[in-house]
Amino acid sequence: MEPQTLIDYTRSLDCIHCGLCLRTCPTYQLTGAEPSSPRGRIHLMRAVAEGDIEPDASFAEEMDFCLLCRHCESVCPSGVEYGALMEHTRAGLAPKTLTGRVVKSLGFKLLESRLMLRLMAGALRLFQLTRLDRLLAPLLGERGSALSKLPPVGPAYERRLLPKESPAEGAQPVALLEGCVMPELLGEVNRATVRVLNDAGHAVSVPSAQPTCCGSLHAHNGELERARALARETIAAFESSGDMPVVTNSAGCGSHMKEYANLFSEEPEWRERAERFSARVRDLSEVLNPQVSPKESSRTVQEPITYDDPCHLCHGQGVRGEPRALLDATGLERVELQESESCCGSAGIYSALRPKDAERILEGKLEALRSSGARTLVTANPGCQLQWQAGVKDAGLEVEVLHLAELLDKTSER
Ligand code: SF4
Ligand code: SF4
Repeated sequence: MEPQTLIDYTRSLDCIHCGLCLRTCPTYQLTGAEPSSPRGRIHLMRAVAEGDIEPDASFAEEMDFCLLCRHCESVCPSGVEYGALMEHTRAGLAPKTLTGRVVKSLGFKLLESRLMLRLMAGALRLFQLTRLDRLLAPLLGERGSALSKLPPVGPAYERRLLPKESPAEGAQPVALLEGCVMPELLGEVNRATVRVLNDAGHAVSVPSAQPTCCGSLHAHNGELERARALARETIAAFESSGDMPVVTNSAGCGSHMKEYANLFSEEPEWRERAERFSARVRDLSEVLNPQVSPKESSRTVQEPITYDDPCHLCHGQGVRGEPRALLDATGLERVELQESESCCGSAGIYSALRPKDAERILEGKLEALRSSGARTLVTANPGCQLQWQAGVKDAGLEVEVLHLAELLDKTSER
């Protein structure tokens, strides 16, 4: 690909080099090196577009090292659309190594097929029960540690898909995004989501035509053609549910679906459909009313609780107050987590592709969790939940990690 088309040069010009983003960047905090910072990466992109440097392996490494957490966007006074800039650049960069290429292409194929995900989850469960996962992990090198840290996969009945209709009378009906890995690894989060919505009076429908994946992980990793195809399928599937809100319990999916129009700059008809669809997308915390009564059983949750902002909820969607208001309405003691808006290292498939970097990034967050004294940590994104669960277990902390839906399901009545 020509350097000029590899980089979204016009967007890169928005950067005024002020450096305000540097302190927020997890990779800059790790290395202290300018090329690992948002400003440094934008500088490298511009240098490529202007023909001053080649988009070589070291350039690709700095682009891969970025978590695409978008913390830099939240503090940027110049409105740099860093996420879109990076997705565009990654679209033109092939993974450097054969393993990287295989892992990415197999991983994306897997995410698009419910059958493949089912088979993988079944195989993983078998490996875990026979402890083969521990034997196989060292053979996979650095990436093996990600395999051995996956949570125990439940039996098939725990991995069942949601009913297509879950009726309730009262509030507005909603359509729910079921998610790709959610049913396989965190099925209980999906069921808790439906119960909480039903409890609030929202009838829940799960459109059967929705594709297995919304394309978020594809877009973040530069697979823009597949991301576009999956976005078209998702939009069409939810158009069948009229104008009702489209709810998701995954911050990464929500952030991506709210920005679907960015994928269709050259397709006006799809751009218009994407805009209509995106206007309906809501994070779970945006549709629930915080006016609730605490349940008697609330005290089964260990206090104090704390909340870690998923990057794609706070930086990607600007949703910060709603989850906290819902948590406070439970009556449980809540403490703030220091640097709750900094990335936990999960970042989509980053923790699978670069587990060592992901672990180093999580270390600082674990220290903040220790200092907070919290006994329960709440998040609102499946990847963050898995990353925290693995980190807390490795660190030997007695902290339960729950999705917001699970905590609300345990503690409040609507
Ligand atoms: S997206 Fe996150 S990791 Fe990437 S440059 Fe911005 S702050 Fe740093
Ligand atoms: S804060 Fe924005 S304008 Fe300033 S250096 Fe970072 S990306 Fe550039």
